[in-house]
Amino acid sequence: MKHKIMLSFLLLSILSFPESHSVASSTAISEKEMLEKRLELFKNMETAVQLPWYYLAAADQYERSIRQARNDVESVKGNISIHIKPAQWSGALNPNQEDTNPYSISVFNGIGKDGNGDHVADLTSDEDLLFTFANFLLAYGSDEDNIRIGLWNFYKRDKAVGIIMGNAKLFKKFNRIDLQEKAFPVPVKTNYTYRSTWGVARGWGGRRSHEGTDIFAHYSLPVRATCYGIVEMKGWNKYGGWRIGIRDINNTYHYFAHLNGFKDGIKVGDIVKPGQVIGGVGSTGYGPPGTSGKFPPHLHFGMYKDNGKIEWSFDPTPHLRAWERKELSK
Ligand SMILES: [Zn+2]
Repeated sequence: MKHKIMLSFLLLSILSFPESHSVASSTAISEKEMLEKRLELFKNMETAVQLPWYYLAAADQYERSIRQARNDVESVKGNISIHIKPAQWSGALNPNQEDTNPYSISVFNGIGKDGNGDHVADLTSDEDLLFTFANFLLAYGSDEDNIRIGLWNFYKRDKAVGIIMGNAKLFKKFNRIDLQEKAFPVPVKTNYTYRSTWGVARGWGGRRSHEGTDIFAHYSLPVRATCYGIVEMKGWNKYGGWRIGIRDINNTYHYFAHLNGFKDGIKVGDIVKPGQVIGGVGSTGYGPPGTSGKFPPHLHFGMYKDNGKIEWSFDPTPHLRAWERKELSK
């Protein structure tokens, strides 16, 4: 069975990406071409190992977002961001931690495999990495529950599993990995005002700094999803009132607070698109559930980044300005 899989993948490699190594290392290649090549790698791997492509794409996207949010990890040379430590690849007790021989790697219980049929299990090869990662997951099974178990055993982090399953849901639904489009959180060309207020002190609830930008507008002006993402949180909070949180495929969390209500039927786990209405501007918060009117109506919009260990707030204002400009120019 293993040989059959390897052979079919080898054929696919030759037929579909004869030049993927040189392509990935070239700097002339555009982001669009990178995405196309990457999607092709995932789809070829699905054919070779019978693991739905979007799980591979989802884990790869999670690791890419983690890398972009950290400076203590080296950058990726290829087109795939999945990272496997040399000790796991070659086997913890392998005297050669840079082993690329599939046979000796397997003797030392390393997980490294040859995915492109060149008889070398190369940790820096996109095909070998993906093939190895896919086999690691498949050892637990290929249905959703077992994928979760496999992912947990690889990342040892519940949040990573949740984020990856969210990415997978998005990739599957839209059948593409290019989901970077954004939208301004309220309809442009309506009456609203905002300025950068991130980080300033605020009055209610003790010493907290302001983790967002306030967009002042009239009650019930539609509030819209800013990204392709998954609704991760919805409900009441004494500071934020009625609020909703959406995580995009870059593992950035988009937070909307003080809403006067939610769009009917929207619930945690839902897929949203940029521009999709999720609620309305209000002035809820600063008290028990239902408290409203303690301040002028506005949308509090926050953005948070996760690096695999911690989550922190950053100023959304430059992003808001860019999204607004883009929509106004349409
Ligand atoms: Zn605010």
